[in-house]
This record gives sequence, C-alpha cells and structure tokens, in this order.
Amino acid sequence: MNNIFESNHPLVKHKLTRLRDKSTEPKKFRELVRELGALLTYEATADLNITPVTIETPLTKTRGEELQDKIGLVPILRAGLGMVEGVWELMPSAEVWHIGLYRDERTLKPVAYYNRLPVAPTVAVCLILDPMLATGGSAVATVDILKDWGVARIKFVGLIAAPEGIQCLHDAHPDVPIHLAAIDDHLNENGYIIPGLGDAGDRQFGT
Ligand code: URA
Repeated sequence: MNNIFESNHPLVKHKLTRLRDKSTEPKKFRELVRELGALLTYEATADLNITPVTIETPLTKTRGEELQDKIGLVPILRAGLGMVEGVWELMPSAEVWHIGLYRDERTLKPVAYYNRLPVAPTVAVCLILDPMLATGGSAVATVDILKDWGVARIKFVGLIAAPEGIQCLHDAHPDVPIHLAAIDDHLNENGYIIPGLGDAGDRQFGT
C-alpha cells in the first residue's frame, strides 16, 4: 500500500509511549495529543505548495516563499479536538471545520450529526484530525463529505491506526495520504485498537 506514512521520529516515539501508558493523567495526555498532532502535521505538510514573494527585511529587499493554499483543519468530534491546538500553533490562519459522526446501531454506518460546512469550499487543502483510525468508517465518511464539498487535497493525520482501518480508508480513498505515529496489531471485538491507548476521548476529557 502506498500513501501510508508511519513516523520514524524519536520524539514521536517517545511521546507516543507516554501517551499509551495507562498511568498518564488527562492533563498530560492532552498535552501529548497536542504535541503529537503538531509533530505529525509538520511531517504531513512537507509537500504543501509554496509561492514566491518579495519582502523587505530591515536592511534590504529579498525573496521568500509563503504557503499558497488555504488550509482547513477538520477534527472529527470529539477525540480529534485535542489535536487542533497543536496544529493551529503551526498554521494560525487555518480554518477549523468540525465534523461530528455517530454510528447507527442498526446499519453500523457512520451518520453525520454535526456538519456546518458552507455550500462552496473555502479551503484548498484539508487535514482530517482523529487520534484513532480504528474501523475507518468515520474517516471514510469524513473524506466523502469533504470531497462532496469540493476540497481538492485531503490528508488524514492520526496517532494510532489498526491495519483494518488503514485498509478501509485506503480502499475507499487511495488518493488520501495517511500520516500516523504508529500502526498497531489489530482491533479487538469491541472495536478497540490493540495495544492502542484505550478510549482517546475518555482519556482526554477525563470521562
Ligand atoms: N477509538 C478510541 O478512542 N480508541 C480505540 O482503540 C478505537 C477507537
């Protein structure tokens, strides 16, 4: 499978290990989610388009570059919220568009319960933020929504994925790069990633 990127960065590995540890308290857990979100986004955005500009330093005119495309951050509620702050520190002018999904108990399909996207797309690149890529259902539904909205370029940024979730997202949207801190072993019968870190929402929000 191409388009799957598992970080090899020592800082990412160190922080992910602290994140997985069940003795890590919600305050520290939130800090790690924020930091990992930023580190993975740094890697995920290495191929963004830039455009030349001329600016003046205090001494002279010089040429530089600036980001060409308007970027949207799309956290999947609720666990994705914790990644926003870290990414926003890197790109403060990014727009944030929230998507809320729940799983219909009868059909087992994700249903959008929160989506306030305007009719026309306002961004060219979207980064979907969700710490856990488990079954892949929510990620596929979010990409479907963003493609329907007309977004030209979409990337998924997560912390931990199950192979099942990667397969599902990649099969549905092979053009969407998947950036992760780690690829774990499998999903258990309750849909949790093993070894994983438990419920990423509960651990952030202390619920
Ligand atoms: N969502 C989580 O928060 N954790 C998992 O292991 C799987 C899905």
